[in-house]
Amino acid sequence: MSADTDLDDLAALLPQLSTREAFAELETAQRAAEQAPPQSTIIPEPEFPHAWPHPKGGIARFPCALGCGWAHEHDSYAEDPDPISVPLTATSEDIGRIFGERAERRAARVRASVETAIRGHFADAHPGQEPPKRRIA
Ligand SMILES: [Zn+2]
Repeated sequence: MSADTDLDDLAALLPQLSTREAFAELETAQRAAEQAPPQSTIIPEPEFPHAWPHPKGGIARFPCALGCGWAHEHDSYAEDPDPISVPLTATSEDIGRIFGERAERRAARVRASVETAIRGHFADAHPGQEPPKRRIA
């Protein structure tokens, strides 16, 4: 059995939609996306002042949204503290899931550390002012 055969078998299990049904499904999905609450963050768009292969190429700068000159720097090339642990019996799906979950944990840690730095900066330099939010989705 080849990957194409597997795909054909899977495709045969999917319901066959008429053009009208497929269009209605697309419209429903589009309406749902438009009505989803917008997501926002206090994390500004990062700047990457040094292009690879500069030794500081992994530095992402998150400048103060008020333009005061302060910026939080995060080294995205810094060593990841999480060890990678993959069981010998892991399937490719397991490995994808393990790396996906690891990436999610790391992203959450980076977001939290940048938000903490921004809130600390606002408490010190702009007391009484909330960091402005920007829409991300
Ligand atoms: Zn500032």
